[in-house]
Amino acid sequence: MNLFERINGDGYEQVVYCSDDRSGLRAIIAIHSTALGPALGGTRFYPYETEDEGLEDVLRLAKGMTYKAAAAGLDLGGGKAVIIGDPKRDKSEALLRAYGRFVETLGGRYITAEDVGTALEDMDTVRRESRWVTGCSHTYGGSGDPSPVTAYGVFQGIKACILEAFGDTELENRTVAIQGVGKVGYALCGHLSDAGAKVVVADADVDNLARAVSDFQVETCDSASIHTLPVDIFSPCALGGGINDDTISELACRIIAGAANNQLQRDAHGDKLRDLGILYAPDFVLNAGGLMNVEDELRGYNRERAMTRVEGIYKQLQQIFTVAKERRISTARAAKDYAEERIRDISRIRQVRVSGYGPLSDHR
Ligand code: NAD
Repeated sequence: MNLFERINGDGYEQVVYCSDDRSGLRAIIAIHSTALGPALGGTRFYPYETEDEGLEDVLRLAKGMTYKAAAAGLDLGGGKAVIIGDPKRDKSEALLRAYGRFVETLGGRYITAEDVGTALEDMDTVRRESRWVTGCSHTYGGSGDPSPVTAYGVFQGIKACILEAFGDTELENRTVAIQGVGKVGYALCGHLSDAGAKVVVADADVDNLARAVSDFQVETCDSASIHTLPVDIFSPCALGGGINDDTISELACRIIAGAANNQLQRDAHGDKLRDLGILYAPDFVLNAGGLMNVEDELRGYNRERAMTRVEGIYKQLQQIFTVAKERRISTARAAKDYAEERIRDISRIRQVRVSGYGPLSDHR
């Protein structure tokens, strides 16, 4: 399949290859959709073995951002960027600034943020070349690291799941297994422990594991079997693809609700979870808190407004659960339907109202 067929087939609007010999920059920016607004998504800095692998990743991630922004009720489209290279070895000021100049050329059709392999200070560097950056430090009017806000959103969503599955929002003595206590999982562990839940954690990184144990006195489990624990909630907060043909029959939880992106290896796993009677909180709905937080920067960051929006994840999940019940479909399918229907309905209105792109405030 040639590149144009690959891109058109899934409805991508634009793929930009960025190359700068002097700094060694090799990056790909993918804009999946600007139907609802500018395409916002992070920049992943990763040592892909081949350029094709980088392309596949950026396409998949950009499309995921379209769904996440749409389901979150934001006026944003979906995009993502990858920088091909080892962030520990290849990252430099010159490379990040060259990248920033490419972001600037897109005139706001793509807005970037941090992701795997990039951090707050990198966004500050990119910001020196382009206005179209979010998740910068407070010095640049940014909102800082989005991870604690993502965790807060997941915590709100977990309460909606508890209500749906057990009929109350009480977390006292509920059992939760968290897979991965990195930036988001650690903060989530704090919220759950404070609310009186009994938390078990696993992490491949011994330092991260030790930090959670020492700060919250939680129990631990090995990474290979955390998903098999008979708990109320299993919370994947490590990598994607954890719910797959091998693991799905080993699950012994009532609810799956975590921050990891792309938890289901295939859409069919969402249907299977429904058959098994496991309530699944669709990942891109549950983990949208960080996106909501950086989106707020586009209007001049206001933490209170951002957190109010993040608390809305509770109601958004309830809506998804209702749609799933009414249509007798999985929650995963209901979330996708919800996002697609919003894109269709709202983009019709935007087509009439908007010409050209610019900061969100210019759209209103
Ligand atoms: P992180 O890298 O800080 O934490 C991930 C943790 O998972 C690390 O401690 C790592 O050691 C651990 N881990 C990796 N493989 C594991 C395994 N097999 N078993 C157990 N532990 C394992 O990342 P993060 O920012 O906390 O993000 C966690 C997940 O949430 C990712 O999938 C990310 O894409 C998603 N997410 C994050 C945000 C955000 O705001 N940071 C927003 C939306 C989605």
